[in-house]
Amino acid sequence: MSIPNHQTLLEHDQKMLHPMHHPNLHNDPLVVKHAEGVWLHTTDGRKMLDGLGGLWNVNVGFGRKELAQAAYDQMLQVAYCNNYAGMTNVPASELAHKLSGYAYKGLNTTYFTSGGAEANESAFKTARYYWKRLGKKTKVKVIARMDAYHGVTMAAMSATGMPRFWTMFEPRVPDFSHIPAPNTYRYAGEVKAGETIGQAAARALEEEILRQGPDTVAAFIAEPVQGAGGVIIPPDDYFPLVRQICDKYEVLFIADEVITGFGRTGSMFALGRYGVTPDIMSFAKGITSGYIPMGGIQIHDKIKEAIDTAPVTEAWNHGFTYSGHATAAAVALKNLEILEQENLADHAAQRHPSFLNTFKKLRDEFVQVDNPRAMGLIGGIEFVKNRETKEPDLDTAAKVSKAARQRGLITRNIGATLAFSPPLIISESEISFIYDTLREAVASVVKESVLA
Ligand code: PMP
Repeated sequence: MSIPNHQTLLEHDQKMLHPMHHPNLHNDPLVVKHAEGVWLHTTDGRKMLDGLGGLWNVNVGFGRKELAQAAYDQMLQVAYCNNYAGMTNVPASELAHKLSGYAYKGLNTTYFTSGGAEANESAFKTARYYWKRLGKKTKVKVIARMDAYHGVTMAAMSATGMPRFWTMFEPRVPDFSHIPAPNTYRYAGEVKAGETIGQAAARALEEEILRQGPDTVAAFIAEPVQGAGGVIIPPDDYFPLVRQICDKYEVLFIADEVITGFGRTGSMFALGRYGVTPDIMSFAKGITSGYIPMGGIQIHDKIKEAIDTAPVTEAWNHGFTYSGHATAAAVALKNLEILEQENLADHAAQRHPSFLNTFKKLRDEFVQVDNPRAMGLIGGIEFVKNRETKEPDLDTAAKVSKAARQRGLITRNIGATLAFSPPLIISESEISFIYDTLREAVASVVKESVLA
């Protein structure tokens, strides 16, 4: 296929509405024509390190010929075959088998979608379904957290805890409410004397369940690390307490592992490190490393049983055309093979110290930088006007993000945070590139205040 020149492509691109569209936010877009490893190559000759790994999803890195081959081979067999009752296909059933118990003990059944929002919609509906099947028909509400991101379809948007995603699309779906995020740097709720932030944030869940009425709450949804809300890493005591509270009030715990799944945090799935098992897990992104759209939910055996024992009039009538897409499933299987054979979760864990150190060094060098944080290979820094007051410096963050981009580094600027989530195959020298480029970018914006 011959590619039109860069200018023509930019003109043609104006015919599209882009995600989160505003004309002022889409100036001088990168037109990517080729990518390899962690590097993107654009039609105007730029080479950029993709510090966000696509949208937190290109875990195995770009340019994997095996994944192209897996898609090609499957398309020659049967590219698409529906997955509705009475029909299935080879790779989807193989993938379901492979994923059985893969993330968490007891989560042996998978339902496939095309992405994360569809996965969360499926999770909410399945939680409601479960309680209805158990005769608890009033348990329909979902509690989520502020700064959560769960997607932009109506219910996923309503669970998302960032008002900018709601205001122009309201009213939201009723029966979704929010509690503060377990943000140790900037906790928005009340912390009582002697309480840790983890305990306070978990108490907020218990109080919200009681406020709503336990008989009305179906589920609590949480990302193990909040990504799009600004890389919020919870304290270690939070999720074990959340699990206990959910059990106490018979509330299903939905873990949204759309970002954290498949190696990102230095283990295959994120909640294992806390010894916590969810009732439902949403996944997407890393299951195919973004080579083809796929997502899904995994459900606990108790939910599967409720579905399996239902009379026909209470069937789980939920399904998408592209559920269990044959080509997507074939790519997912090959992607899992790569993740396993190359030990990419371990690789992420091994790269973690220098990744986190990148952010810590920047804090040591610049007064404007604070809150360096990372789990595995998801992390970031925050720009503040003053480290005492922690007043966010949105303007500096935006300028540094732009300066980094001009120097060949892509980062995601979320409020005052710069977020990073590079492909898991990133090398030490590429992590050094992130540090060197970011350091130069910060210095170019805040020249006068480099610490000694
Ligand atoms: N959940 C989380 C945690 C996400 O980060 C995202 C996407 N960034 C989604 C859900 C939504 O996924 P999708 O865009 O594939 O609908």
